[in-house]
Amino acid sequence: MQIKKKGKHIITSSIEHHAVLDACKFLEKQGFEVTYLPVTPEGIVRVEDFKEALREDTILATVMHVNNEVGTIQPVEEIGNICREKGILFHVDAVQSFGKIPVNVDDLNADLLSVSAHKIYGPKGVGCLYIRRGTKIQNLLHGGGQERKKRPGTENVAGIVGFGVAAELAIKEMKEDSDKLTKLRDKLINGLMERISDVKLNGHPTKRICNNVNVSFKYVEGESLLLSLDMKGIEASSGSACTSGSLEPSHVLQAMGVPYEFIHGSVRMTLGRDNTEEDINYVLEVFPEIVERLREMSPLYQ
Ligand SMILES: *Cc1c(COP(=O)(O)O)cnc(C)c1O
Repeated sequence: MQIKKKGKHIITSSIEHHAVLDACKFLEKQGFEVTYLPVTPEGIVRVEDFKEALREDTILATVMHVNNEVGTIQPVEEIGNICREKGILFHVDAVQSFGKIPVNVDDLNADLLSVSAHKIYGPKGVGCLYIRRGTKIQNLLHGGGQERKKRPGTENVAGIVGFGVAAELAIKEMKEDSDKLTKLRDKLINGLMERISDVKLNGHPTKRICNNVNVSFKYVEGESLLLSLDMKGIEASSGSACTSGSLEPSHVLQAMGVPYEFIHGSVRMTLGRDNTEEDINYVLEVFPEIVERLREMSPLYQ
């Protein structure tokens, strides 16, 4: 890699999606050094910590716009500004923000920005990497003259068109959808907090994407909670949907320092375009009963 001659230091956060974390781990094996920034208990990267992590040989920073587990909105504009001043390449993982809040590569000072179609009701298997003019990237795959040698494999036209339409719709309905979802989200969060004891909201109450609810319950085991919710027709997940099937507690909640008694009883619910107030009422009706029943079975609960 050409840029390796300039330096070998990369800055990222400890709450990135594994798509970024594992790429950083791979780069560490290639001789790069990576700083994984800590986050506040509310799950937000501190700009101060970013500044302190900067080194003479920092060449790249990659910070997510919105966290996929706890929905926190990160200070990517400020971080992008610093990168611009210092001549450091800046990548933003905007998979969770795109279509829900404004994403503008110039406002964010992003040189690279990634988006995925299936998170905005588009087809699976299609994504988009914005590359600012003049930013050099190394090919991961080789061949493919028809794709300006950047990516071999003939374009998936149907997927790309589907992504385009999904993006158009998401942008067109962004304001309306996010106002509606914010109300539903807060109704769900507040309703759970009122009806159930020993509950904790994970993430930030307001610097939070409109569709994310992530809560932890003491004396409840997350997986049992998910199964019970599922039997009532409520689809939730523990931690990241991409790591479901592993019992390792979420790296995001761990980085936030969520106390041990809470971390195992965490669930994430994401709201979508089709959710209604009746859905929220239904969840609020059945949730307390489920938690109560599970707690009665727990040896830790008195
Ligand atoms: C889903 C997700 C990804 C990965 O996108 P895929 O297209 O599913 O591989 C990366 N980052 C974030 C924040 C995500 O939510």
